[in-house]
Amino acid sequence: MSDVTSWIRHGAEMRRPLFVHKALPLCDKIVIVGGGLSGMSCAYRIAQKRPDLEIVLVEKSNRLGGVISTWSEDEWICDLAVNATRSHPAFWRLVEDLQLSDEFKPSRARAKSRWVLLNGKRHRLGPFSLLKIGPIKLIKSIRKARKGGASVAELLPHKQIADALTLGIVNTTSEHVDADFLMPSMTRFGPSPPPKSSKWKKKIKASYPLFTPEKGAVASFDGGMQTLVNALQSHLESLGNVTILTGQEVESPQSTAEQFAVPLSSILWTAPLAEHEREISKLTVFAVGFRDVDVADVSYGYGTLIPDASIPISGILHESDLHHSKRTPKDHRLFRIMAPHVRWDGDEKAILNSIEQLLSKEKPVLFKNLGVQSIPSYPPGYMQSLSHESSGSSFVGWGVSGVSVTHVVDEAERVSELF
Ligand SMILES: Cc1cc2nc3c(=O)[nH]c(=O)nc-3n(C[C@H](O)[C@H](O)[C@H](O)COP(=O)(O)OP(=O)(O)OC[C@H]3O[C@@H](n4cnc5c(N)ncnc54)[C@H](O)[C@@H]3O)c2cc1C
Repeated sequence: MSDVTSWIRHGAEMRRPLFVHKALPLCDKIVIVGGGLSGMSCAYRIAQKRPDLEIVLVEKSNRLGGVISTWSEDEWICDLAVNATRSHPAFWRLVEDLQLSDEFKPSRARAKSRWVLLNGKRHRLGPFSLLKIGPIKLIKSIRKARKGGASVAELLPHKQIADALTLGIVNTTSEHVDADFLMPSMTRFGPSPPPKSSKWKKKIKASYPLFTPEKGAVASFDGGMQTLVNALQSHLESLGNVTILTGQEVESPQSTAEQFAVPLSSILWTAPLAEHEREISKLTVFAVGFRDVDVADVSYGYGTLIPDASIPISGILHESDLHHSKRTPKDHRLFRIMAPHVRWDGDEKAILNSIEQLLSKEKPVLFKNLGVQSIPSYPPGYMQSLSHESSGSSFVGWGVSGVSVTHVVDEAERVSELF
């Protein structure tokens, strides 16, 4: 595929290296470890392209989907992890191929606003937020960060804005996050796009199947993200060359190769990388529902990020404002609350107190602890350290590809293009 064509197909993902062993496409049997979105998308894309290949998908838990899961009770529906996707043609292509177009809708226009809580006041986040840093200071810090290995705090030298961004994505403050990993286009990590970016960006826009997303918009599924996992699973089950093994934990690429009697190069590892499993951060997710009238003063929007570590909540997502599909009983609103364990002591009363201050003095009609989620850590220098790694196997998934669903879905397409 020509360079320009690849950039039109994959956009800025082309800046990220693919950790795929050159012998993987030559194997006649592939063992994919990890049945999250990455493993499922890789299995689907490779199996579609190469029906002659035998593909085994090995997952340690008893269900597929990894961190993606949707909770529902009565008429309440809430995602535990990702709830919507930002725009990327690879994700739209997957939705189309899975015949999910009727269940996939853009987010509501009225939910565009995002806020950050600074000194007790909500400020709207937008392209101009970065100007708070001061243009000269920002230009200098960007130039410095382009030398590689910088943290997001160094790239964006406004502690609260930088923290708000990283907390909302990777559950930690900006000094702990690799700028090359989170914002490779800004730091110019990896290869640069072919010239005249406006031209290929226009072509990317024209390449979306289903519908062209509006700038900054996200899209989601009726019934939550579990809808995507269910569709992927049923497509995989219908493919004759894919075997799914759940409830099977493997230890390493080496032991997997031995267990399945394949060369090391047959292993596509999508589970967390062993050395980073120790460095995950945890957060508890709550679904909180109110009657409309009790939160009438809360503006419609996407949500609020809270960098102030004295508050046990780092983010409030306005679930029912955002999605086109129904998430609540009639005349109610649903909020999703994130409580990072580094700032929350486990007492639910502290969460209820914060909700009282930030959302409503009235008692919520729903207050549900949805459980703990884990997020890998991406410390400064992470991308540089990965690009120097070499191994006999292949590694994909959000441990290496980028933190969002578009990264892992696009990466799966890029991997399948090698076959
Ligand atoms: C709270 C939260 C909010 C998020 N919000 C967003 C968002 O708003 N937008 C967005 O785009 N993305 C978001 N994400 C990120 C997104 O969910 C991930 O990028 C994506 O789901 C990662 O998929 P994966 O398959 O790479 O990893 P995982 O989902 O972690 O899957 C890895 C799989 O490997 C399995 N596994 C692990 N070890 C082994 C082993 N030894 N043997 C066999 N199997 C093993 C696991 O059980 C798991 O099923 C969020 C994530 C979280 C946790």
